[in-house]
Amino acid sequence: MAERPVILRGARVVDPVAGLDAVRDLRLVEGRIAAVGEGIREPGDRVVDVAGLVAAPGFCDMHVHFREPGLEYKETVASGAAAAVAGGFTAVACMANTDPVNDSPSVTAHIRQLAKQAGLARVHPIAATTQGMKGERISEFGALKEAGAVAVSDDGLPVGDPAVMRRALEYSRLHDLPVIEHCETLELTGEGAMREGAYAAQIGLPGIPAASEFIAVERNIALAEITGARLHIAHLSTARSAAAVRRAKAAGIRVTAEVTPHHLILTDEAVGDYDTAAKMKPPLAAEADREALLTAIADGTADAIATDHAPHHEDEKKLCFQSAPFGIVGLETAVPLVLERLVASGIIPLAQAVRLLSTGPRRILGLPGGDLRPGSPADITLLDLEATSTINPASFRSRGRSTPFAGLSLRGQVVATWVGGREVYSQSANR
Ligand SMILES: [Zn+2]
Repeated sequence: MAERPVILRGARVVDPVAGLDAVRDLRLVEGRIAAVGEGIREPGDRVVDVAGLVAAPGFCDMHVHFREPGLEYKETVASGAAAAVAGGFTAVACMANTDPVNDSPSVTAHIRQLAKQAGLARVHPIAATTQGMKGERISEFGALKEAGAVAVSDDGLPVGDPAVMRRALEYSRLHDLPVIEHCETLELTGEGAMREGAYAAQIGLPGIPAASEFIAVERNIALAEITGARLHIAHLSTARSAAAVRRAKAAGIRVTAEVTPHHLILTDEAVGDYDTAAKMKPPLAAEADREALLTAIADGTADAIATDHAPHHEDEKKLCFQSAPFGIVGLETAVPLVLERLVASGIIPLAQAVRLLSTGPRRILGLPGGDLRPGSPADITLLDLEATSTINPASFRSRGRSTPFAGLSLRGQVVATWVGGREVYSQSANR
């Protein structure tokens, strides 16, 4: 039986693609936006009053780790998808570093099946660039794309061998898949646990130099230029990397980039007294890097804000700083952080935040949506810009709890999330 059409009445609709920021009604029919207008009346429709809220095209986090198959004690596709919709994300793209690695169509199809069963966010698998993420032989891009992969990446590890990276980029062109690269030079990272600099020296931790990232960024941009392929740089964290992306874009090289909320908001000093909730790759950087990243999201150098949601078990993150794994959760903290620290603070307008959280990542991955025009999927994130909430890891849907933002009180929150014309998360139902 077809579901009854819905009218979301009276939200402030922010659609950067349509250039719209005004109070409108949205009519949702059979999973799609059917109409955007003022005073829509359709007898028989279900009317939901959303006056006072912002309606944005559903947010898309193009960089998450859902750990299934194989590491379900950290996160499952279902727990990750629940965290996604609670955080305002209607879609995510999940990285391939599961166990087994997602380097085969059967693993890609399995993840999609698990997501379908969960029935929450849309989960788009990213397949491994190389077989087993070993950095040696590239995987079967064509078969992986056919099974539903939206990109390839060995994220968690860089593709170290430039000849392999060149071949991956060439092959990706044939299949029109972006190559997402975790830009790191492992020889420069060495035993490093946090960003090299004055603070690491002060607390006596081995440092990861900024060059570990930007040398890889510059190499990969050169390979993208040579091959004409689409390169997406994951979690940009240094000023010099951002400058390299800006120059590459100006030169017409097909490069895109994402930045995480933690790199936009925190610096290496957040490591504080050896807090493993501030241990991630790339590591938190210097204030000058953070400022350069803020410029990059404002001027279009960065195309997306992505969380790099990387859940680990609490016991793992309780180890000493040097031994604890890299990675923090991000799905349930990103939107309030962006709304207060980037939008309310005047760094970017709301429409630009929506572009970075919704439109940009979908364009990179070739996904529909990212706007609220008639015909687009009825994937909608509803926000209350005035409501204040406190980040409480105990209430996360994610199995991961490690965040440097615990206890922070933020203004601006997710009220409800709709996927395909259906409400899949409501804050009021979850209090
Ligand atoms: Zn990474």
